[in-house]
Formats: sequence, structure tokens, C-alpha cells
Amino acid sequence: MTVIAIDGTFSSGKGTLGKKLSSHYNLPYLDTGKLYRAVAKIILEAGGDVNDPNQAAKAAQALDVTTLDDPTLKSGPIGAAASKVSVHPELRLALLDVQRDFAAKGGILDGRDIGTVICPNATVKLYVTARAEIRAARRHRELQSYGEEISYETVLAQLHERDNRDMTRKNAPLRPADDAHLLDTSGLSIEEAYAAAIKICDAVFAVKS
Ligand code: C5P
Repeated sequence: MTVIAIDGTFSSGKGTLGKKLSSHYNLPYLDTGKLYRAVAKIILEAGGDVNDPNQAAKAAQALDVTTLDDPTLKSGPIGAAASKVSVHPELRLALLDVQRDFAAKGGILDGRDIGTVICPNATVKLYVTARAEIRAARRHRELQSYGEEISYETVLAQLHERDNRDMTRKNAPLRPADDAHLLDTSGLSIEEAYAAAIKICDAVFAVKS
């Protein structure tokens, strides 16, 4: 069973890589951030509080995984709320099975704790990041394409806040697994990052096959 675990910082390009690797290796792809975003959306729409662990666990039970294609999940406010909701261990536990069930059939998962917690035995682990200013510029362009009016400076400040929360939370903090391959996309185009990821994966497959 082939599992590619992709973890990394916000707007590092891991989602784009995940989709491209999914087509290349013909493996299904799951963007696990969307699970946390969908839970955050359920709470926000009910006028609830994302800082309340009970509401988070309850929202996870109401989660319909067939609605993850909802384009509004990608918005800035929902992403920020997802980062807050994802600190709750109760919620992380509630979302464990859906991710492990997906991985059990073989596939590519991207998130923050895939190589460390969800799939510690993944075939290949990638840890993708880039300099904060570069990620903020990418994210700023993306939000503008959705019609969101926000300054680059605000995006950069939010990105630092998000990185800090993801990396310092007690439960499943964002960090590279000990056996992860690091991929810094700062100076790379999408195609160059994709080529670098294929090179890493092919080298691991060659050793493991
Ligand atoms: O990757 P994305 O920006 O969509 O994720 C939104 C938030 O969900 C992240 O900032 C992170 O806090 C949380 N998340 C997580 N674990 C994952 C995926 C996402 O904690 N596996």
C-alpha cells in the first residue's frame, strides 16, 4: 500500500503538490485541512465558539465528508477558525478514523500531522515549507483571486500567527517527522517543486520496492 504523507506550513504549496502527485502516481488525494475547515464552518454557521472543545467534537459528528468540495471552505476567515478549532484533542481524535480509513486504501494526504500522527508508517513523507514572505505573497494573490480585500501585511501577520499556533499547540503540533524529506519551495516554481517531489518519491519507491 503506497501512502504519501505531505505536511508543511500554511501556503507552502503542499496542496498543489498533493494534487499533482495524485495524478502522477494515480493515487487518491485528501486535503485534511478541509476536514478542520468544514468543522469550523459548521460551528461558525451555528453562531458557536471555535474555542469550545465540546462544540468542536459535536460539529465533527455532524461533518458530512461529501461536502469537502465546498469552495467557501478555502476562505481566510474559515482557515483562521480552522486553526483555532484544530487545537482541541477531542476534535483531532474524532477526525482520526476518517483519515486512517482513507490512507488504508493507499493515497496521498496533506496536512500538519500526517507523517507524525495519522500515518507514521507512510511510504514517503514530505515536509514542505517556504519563507514566510513568499508564502504570504502567494496567499495574498490567492485571496485576491477569490475577491477578498486584504493587504499583504495583514496576510503576513496572520500567517505568522497561524504558523505559531500550529507549531506550538500541545496536541499534534506541526513539525517534520524524523524521517521526512524536507522540501523548501521558496525559490522554486510550481513545476520545479513538483519535479523535486517526484525525484524524492521515486528515490524512496526504488529503495522500498
Ligand atoms: O491546510 P489548511 O490551511 O487548509 O488547514 C487549516 C488549518 O487546519 C491549519 O492551520 C491547521 O491548524 C489545521 N490542520 C491541522 N491538521 C491537519 C490539517 C489542518 O491541524 N492535518
